[in-house]
Amino acid sequence: MDKTNLQRIWKVVCRNLQHQLGSPVVNSWISPLSVDKFYSGILYVKAPSMFLRDWVVNNYLGSILAFCQKECKDIKSVEVFVSSARSEPDFPESKSEPRGSEPVAAKTFALPEPQGKKNEEAIVLGVPLDPKFTFENFVVGKPNEFAYAAALRVAESDKVAFNPLFLYGAVGLGKTHLMHAIAWNIKTRNHKRNVAYMSAEKFMYHFIKSVRYKDTMAFKEQFRAVDVLMIDDIQFICGKDSTQEEFFHTFNDLVDNNRQVIVSADKSPSDLDGMEDRLKSRLGWGLVADIHPTTYELRLGILQSKMAECAVKIPDKVLEFIAHKITTNIRELEGALNRIVASAIFIGREITIESARDVLSDLLRTSDRKVTVEEIQKKVSEHYAVKLADMSSNRRVRQISMPRQVAMYLAKKLTTMSLPEIGKRFGGRDHTTVLHAFKKVEETIKNDGSLAEDIRLLSSILTK
Ligand code: ADP
Ligand code: MG
Repeated sequence: MDKTNLQRIWKVVCRNLQHQLGSPVVNSWISPLSVDKFYSGILYVKAPSMFLRDWVVNNYLGSILAFCQKECKDIKSVEVFVSSARSEPDFPESKSEPRGSEPVAAKTFALPEPQGKKNEEAIVLGVPLDPKFTFENFVVGKPNEFAYAAALRVAESDKVAFNPLFLYGAVGLGKTHLMHAIAWNIKTRNHKRNVAYMSAEKFMYHFIKSVRYKDTMAFKEQFRAVDVLMIDDIQFICGKDSTQEEFFHTFNDLVDNNRQVIVSADKSPSDLDGMEDRLKSRLGWGLVADIHPTTYELRLGILQSKMAECAVKIPDKVLEFIAHKITTNIRELEGALNRIVASAIFIGREITIESARDVLSDLLRTSDRKVTVEEIQKKVSEHYAVKLADMSSNRRVRQISMPRQVAMYLAKKLTTMSLPEIGKRFGGRDHTTVLHAFKKVEETIKNDGSLAEDIRLLSSILTK
């Protein structure tokens, strides 16, 4: 689509927004935007500042997209980006073009309603929030339902619910997402509330800077002016004594003044080595909510929800494959999905389990690609000193049926083959026989240490 066409569409969209939202909103928020390009179903719109972009994305993106699609069905989504060299999306045609306007400081844009000084400070103090990290975009499952409920409760109560809210869990499981979601929710309900979100590292940076410039009073004042303080990844200040000391005082002042504090970490308060005891105990006073490692259901749910907004369709079987294979954390899961989408767009390759396996080969354990049923049968028969042919034979004596069941169990565990496919390779057995073998071995190893040891050994040989 050429630029004139895009500008014509954008003009109509702005006119429609004017009817819907009114002139003050459009003048403050929409007019500073300019349409930039259309690429691969996405309309790229330029914003002059991060602050303006975040506000627009969080409040008006739905309307913008709806009006765009009314004008042009090919527009599948709208991406608002800041027109500074660093944050401009990197796509082929953009390289040769001159840069757009310089970024403009957030403060030059008036909010639709009068703002107090307090709110400006919050913007200066905190770091920008990710517009995608909202409660709506957070998929809830067993591992995170408690943390989600606690976060929602804190976001929605007008009184301080628990102080602090302490969220913890391993990397990539959604702590930062939940914190941003709380911030968005509070700001949307009452934009005058002074919400400051930052990493513990940033907190330390502010603190050290204030010490260096002998400006600790201003530092204290700034932090004590917030209504809600969120410090992400607090484990960063473990072993950093003076920062901890300062945080402890800030924390106490805020809590004493009935301000909400929300903290995240990769461990529970009591496990934070290198953290002063009084701070550890203080952090555990409110509500401590942990996020557990993901389950298959949650991973699949997240992939499906990402699909809803994705221009490329990925077959269910492939999503199930990814959910089975990428088990580390959600960040990696998203990374895997993005890679598959990108390869489909750029190479135009059909998405199948095979192509997904290729694209993700380095993420998947090498064993997942290499182990074959034949190898399993060979190693198992060697281990138990039975004939390879007996893996497929009908002999039912225990010395033979047990190794055969172990081999079927390992085939299910270590390959991506379905039960009928496995059955076929064991002398054309039925899938129920394979399932029976799998369950039996799984049950037996709970009590039979030597069989469990055999399985561990064979697995490690096969996946080396
Ligand atoms: P953490 O801060 O715990 O390391 P993040 O909050 O940065 O993890 O999450 C990593 C990525 O996974 C983010 O892109 C986030 O949006 C996504 N994510 C995490 N949990 C969920 C969830 N329950 N639903 C949807 N996306 C999630
Ligand atoms: Mg994080």
